[in-house]
This record gives sequence, structure tokens and C-alpha cells, in this order.
Amino acid sequence: MQAIFSKTTFMAALTRQCAPYQPQAMTQHQWWQAVSAALAEQLLASPPTPPSGQQRHVNYISMEFLIGRLTANNLINLGWLDDVSEVLKKQGVNLTDVLEQEVDPALGNGGLGRLAACFLDSMATVGQPAVGYGLNYQYGLFRQSFYDGAQQEAPDSWHRETYPWFRRNGSLAVSVGFGGKLSKDAQGREQWQPAFSLMGEASDLPVVGYQNGITQPLRLWQAVAMQPFDLGLFNDGKYLEAERQGVEAEKLTKVLYPNDNHQAGKRLRLMQQYFQCACSVADILRRHHAAGRKIADLPQYEVIQLNDTHPTIAIPELLRILLDEHQLDWDAAWSIVSRTFAYTNHTLMPEALECWNERLVRSLLPRHFSLIKQINARFKVLVQQRWPDDADVWERVAIHHNRQVRMANLCVVSGFAVNGVAALHSELVVKDLFPHYHQLWPEKFHNVTNGITPRRWLRQCNPALSALIDSKLNAEWVTDLDALKGLEAFADDQNFHQRYRQIKQENKHRLAAWVQHTMGITLNPAAIFDVQIKRLHEYKRQHLNLLHILSLYRQLRDNPQLDMVPRVFLFGAKAAPGYYLAKNIIYAINKVAEKINNDPLVGDRLKVVFIPDYKVSVAELMIPAADVSEQISTAGKEASGTGNMKLALNGAITVGTLDGANVEIAEQVGSEHIFIFGHTVDEVKALLRKGYNPLSVRKKDKHLNKLLTELENGFFSDGDKEAFRPMLDSLLAGGDPYLVLADFAEYCAAQRQVEALYRDTQQWTRSTILNTARVGMFSSDRAIRDYQQRIWQAKR
Ligand SMILES: *Cc1c(COP(=O)(O)O)cnc(C)c1O
Repeated sequence: MQAIFSKTTFMAALTRQCAPYQPQAMTQHQWWQAVSAALAEQLLASPPTPPSGQQRHVNYISMEFLIGRLTANNLINLGWLDDVSEVLKKQGVNLTDVLEQEVDPALGNGGLGRLAACFLDSMATVGQPAVGYGLNYQYGLFRQSFYDGAQQEAPDSWHRETYPWFRRNGSLAVSVGFGGKLSKDAQGREQWQPAFSLMGEASDLPVVGYQNGITQPLRLWQAVAMQPFDLGLFNDGKYLEAERQGVEAEKLTKVLYPNDNHQAGKRLRLMQQYFQCACSVADILRRHHAAGRKIADLPQYEVIQLNDTHPTIAIPELLRILLDEHQLDWDAAWSIVSRTFAYTNHTLMPEALECWNERLVRSLLPRHFSLIKQINARFKVLVQQRWPDDADVWERVAIHHNRQVRMANLCVVSGFAVNGVAALHSELVVKDLFPHYHQLWPEKFHNVTNGITPRRWLRQCNPALSALIDSKLNAEWVTDLDALKGLEAFADDQNFHQRYRQIKQENKHRLAAWVQHTMGITLNPAAIFDVQIKRLHEYKRQHLNLLHILSLYRQLRDNPQLDMVPRVFLFGAKAAPGYYLAKNIIYAINKVAEKINNDPLVGDRLKVVFIPDYKVSVAELMIPAADVSEQISTAGKEASGTGNMKLALNGAITVGTLDGANVEIAEQVGSEHIFIFGHTVDEVKALLRKGYNPLSVRKKDKHLNKLLTELENGFFSDGDKEAFRPMLDSLLAGGDPYLVLADFAEYCAAQRQVEALYRDTQQWTRSTILNTARVGMFSSDRAIRDYQQRIWQAKR
């Protein structure tokens, strides 16, 4: 049942929203503001989603939601796009141009945050009652630009204050305490007196289901100072202590930490985590009580899904409330907690697993630290029974150990479910990361392969392909992505081939025009558009891609008549500001690009473009234009990847390792329609065990040696021999921990096969069509249904 568009109501709302502006002189941005606010008004006026039957309600807590632009997405999901476009046209306003005005609310780093956004879209679409809980950062991930090839970071203000889709709700405010000390009451129970408190204010964004009348909130918390009169609650000493902590309320939710797969151990970050969790848990309990339900029944009605370990502190927070405020005994409280939380693991990499220094946790959250120690002590009894006097096992599974608190371990011990995010990753979670936990509780462990929403990642970003699919399939593929299988019937249909190719070509022209306009670089739309878009990280191996580019350039210079299919290499990636090596890789790619793009010998056979400020709206432009999708992480390092899914869905052919969801993509599309190369997980392990030496790879491979030498001798850096030292040191003397050189030869061979297939237009087109047709299982609707069946709604 779709929300009915009322032209009269919309016009009235629009008129109201336009009132502050000069009617004849409204800018496009003012139009965007007015149109969005008018739509938001109407959404608020429509009746709320009816709560549905027996399903447990999902509380999806995530430090990041990379939601992208909302106005176009909401129009599509409401089914109002054409109506609104028509109304505006009558006013002489072009909706497409207006929608381009929206600044991405970049409240996430990369895949993890985007996953959370896709899941919200899918939960609303499949009718899974849910609230997303996050933080309302004033500044999203930094805005990236390049100066002489080097990454520059500027604050990214997305204008939270005037964002038209927010609905602020003062009645939901929560007070959150920090610091202070513990004392014992008359019964010997621990009492926490926080040193100072901050207020959490809720702003809701509407998450609109696809044409089903459902809207549910993404609730983002923002820190504000307590009301002045509340300061009277504190005596002077405490207020001063609060000051000494150096925490002004506004600081807390000012910035998103710009890290991806790395943990920094910063005090403010732990404060953010606790602030978010305390606000969210309080909100969940308020809802539970307001429905007249008993506290003991919480796990029957609510599940709290932790997106990675960042919201782990919600576990001791719920326990604290049950013990200290509801006065439950430990067993009753623990029974509730241990049936409420489920945890999604996103990484196996040690540097990304959150560990907090005990002193930091104790000083900021003394009561929570005490509870963590109790959980740890009780768990130790269990471990002693199972592995008597085995210090090695305890060393691995302890929650509190060596003055560190390990958040992943706390999640596994306290939750009823743990899942990895792709089949291979989930297997490694059990085998390598949590083998002992798996022996204790095999039933806790699950796989839920990630997914992407077809609304944004096909229907919205690729309207021409969507229309072609609509014209061929008599099916609701937008909510049933498996229906794309029906396209297999057209895999040899010449008319369909022509249309499909034409659409890819149009999308390439659209991207080329944008690159021309924003960067002044001319792209050849007849070239292969070879795309690598994702956060910059050594394990994702953008430098392996770079070595292949260097190889092609070398070959062109060795043989200027070389018969090669022209290629445009497109990168999009931000490096964490403190990740020196990642920034050096960006610099190297840009310097190589500069040389190649300005070499007359190359002409338009080779171009390298690093598109600045990669984000959701840029992804929506690049993905439909991609011919080749680079998914080349070291096997075992990428938990799933979701960029791989978006690109395959839009008909790009994957060059990839057997890592993350690439494994399942290969199974789905068939081995002839994907290019798999490189060491497998087992081969990586074997090579490292045997002893891997990148210098001997270099010695044996003359071609590779030449490429490395040109990076070393300043050829690409105006004679500066130090320019790429961090990257080269890591690849060579540093031992090449991500096996870039070990996979180089096979990678180049795979790329030659890509070129050969591309020359055969018929077979290439067939493969791209089959990619679109066969990746339906990577819909996030399927992922949500898996969560429902295996975790949220499973019988226990
Ligand atoms: C999908 C997406 C990602 C994740 O890409 P991976 O290739 O899976 O790492 C990161 N950033 C943005 C903006 C995305 O849309």
C-alpha cells in the first residue's frame, strides 16, 4: 500500500516552504531545501507505520550511517518522483538539477556505514520493524582534495542545522553520566556517582520503505550541555571536575572519527560510544515500558544488533540499569542481557579489533568497568571447567586481560548470536578468530552475507538500465532482485545487447562529462573504464592496481605501436588522515597519473584519474559507468565488500581475489564471467609460514623490477627519489605484508584476459548481462531476511 501523493497538499507545503525566499530569485539550492522540507512535512502528516504482530523489534546500533542523499531516494521509495517532477516543471524548475544540490550527509567512513544504510532501507521495505541508532555528527568524514597529488583534508560540514529531513524531538532527550566514583549502599550494592552529565537530543530521519507506506526512524543523538538550571544539581567541586575533563558538550558529537579498520584508543571516541549506547538503551527501555511490558520480557520484544564492536558498551549499560535501577539480581539481569544482544563481526585484522585501556574505561565508566570484570570472572569459571589450567586458552578468550578490555570478546560472551558478513569470512571467524568460543557455543555462530539495496544501487543510480529491465521483465525486481534471473533469456538477444551496451555507453559519457567539468580531464568513452572505488588501505591493494598501470605504460614505451584496448583507470578513495602509508599510495597514483596523462606518446590509450572526495553520490555516478570492477584485496582480509556487489549489478566485470563476497559472486555469475586471480587464503597462509621474501620475487621478474626502479629513481616524481619511499619500503624491505608482489604476475595475466574478452564485443556484452542477471542474491532484502530467520526471529 503506497502513500498517495496529493498535489494540493504538496503545493500548499511547497508554498509555505518557499515563503522565506524571493520567489523569482530562488537558487537551485533553495529549491532543494524547500522541496525537501515540503516532502518531509507531508511524510510527518501521514499516519505512522502500524506495529506488526509477533516480530521482535530490531534496534540497529551503529557508529556510522553512510546514508547518501535522501531526497531522491525518498521520492523513489514513496513513488512520488514523477508527480513531483511534473509539479516543479510547471514552475520552471528541473527536479534533476535540484536534487544535485543535496550535500551528502557523510556520517560514515565506508562499507560498514553504507551497509547500515542499506539495511535500514531493506528493513523498512520488507516490513521488519526497526529503529536505527547513531550519532548526529556535525562534521562528516573530511572533504578530500589534492594539492600537487597529495591528499588535503578539510572539514565536511553538511549543514546539520538546516538539513530539511530532520525531525527534532525534544521529548526524547536523555541525560548521560560520565566519570565519578563508586560507593557501596547499605546492602553493599555498588552505587555510581557520575562526575558530570551531558544531554542527548534525538533527531529522526525518516527511512521510507519501497512503496509500502512504511516509514521508520533513523534516530541520531546529539550532545548538548545540560540545561543551566540542572547545573544546580552539581556542587561546585563536581562542576569543576567536569571542566577539568575538558569536555564541552558540543565537542562530543562534533566529528566522526576518520578511521576504517583501525582502532585508535582515544578517550573522546570511547565517550562517543558510551554516549550513543546510553541514549539508545534508554530509548529502547522507554519504548518497552510505554507499551506496558515487563522488564523480564525485554528479549521477547527487542533485539539489539551491534554493527561491529563500536556499540559494545551497550551491554554493560543494559546490565547496569537492570541491576542498579531495576534492582534485579545478577542471574535475572544476565538472562535478559544475554538474550538481547547480537553482534556482527566486520574484520579479522588485529589492528582493527577494539581494545580499551583499563585505566581509561575505569576513569570514564567506573561502574561499567566493574561489571565487565564480573562478567569476565564468571566466564573464567566456565573456561576453567572446560580447559582446566590452560593459560593459553584463557589468554585468548579473556575479556579483561593485560590491563585491556577486549570488546569483541565481550560481545561473543554476552550475546546470543555472532555473525560474519560473507561465507568465507564467517568460516574464518570460527576457525581463526573465535575457535574456542565456537567449541563452547557452536549454535551462536552464523553467516549473513552482506547485501546492497537495489533501490539506490540500480533503480536510482542507473535509471536507463532500470527502464530497460522494466520493459523486459514483468516482475517487481526492485523488491525481488532474484527476478533479474529473467534477463538470462536475453543474454543472446541482439536487440537487448545493443540496448544494454548503449546504456553503458551513455553512463560512461555522463561520467566523462562530469570529469571534464570538475577536473578538466578528457576521457575516451571508447576505452575500458576500469574502476577501483573504496577506502584506501594496504589490504585493498590500490598499489597492486598501480603496478599494473605502470606495466601497461612501460609496454607502451617499449613498443609505441602496441595494439592495446584503451583504458581509463578510475580511482576513488579517502585515506585516514593519520595513515601515512595510505596517503603515500594516493600521492604515488596521482604522480603516475600526471606523467601518463601528459605523455603525448600515450595519447588517449591510457588515462589515470583519481576522483577526489569519493562518497555515495560519486559512487552513484561511477558505478553505472564501470566496465571493470577491481576487487583485489589480499585473500582473507576483506570481510565481504559491498562495492563488488554494486558494480556487478550494474554490469561491470570483476577482477578479483577469492576474498570476502567475491567468492560468492564467482559462484553466482559463473567462472567464465569473472576474472579470479592470486593466492587463496590457504595459499597466503602457506606462503607466510614458509617465509615470503618480496625481494626474491623482484629478482626473478625483470619487468616488475623495471617498474619498481622507475618508482625509486624519481622518474615519476621530478627526480625526487624519496617521494614514494613509504610505499616502496613496505613493498620491499618491509616484507610486503599484503603480498602485492606475490600476486602481481597473476594479476597482470588476469588483466590480459580482461582485454581479450573486451575485444570480443559479443562475449563481453553477454558476460556483463549475465553479471546483472545473476547477482540478485546480493540484495540487502535477502540479507535482512537471513537475519530474521537465523538470528532475530529464530526460535530459541
Ligand atoms: C559501497 C561503498 C563503500 C564500500 O566499498 P568496498 O569496495 O566494499 O570497500 C565505501 N564507500 C562508499 C561511498 C560506498 O558506497
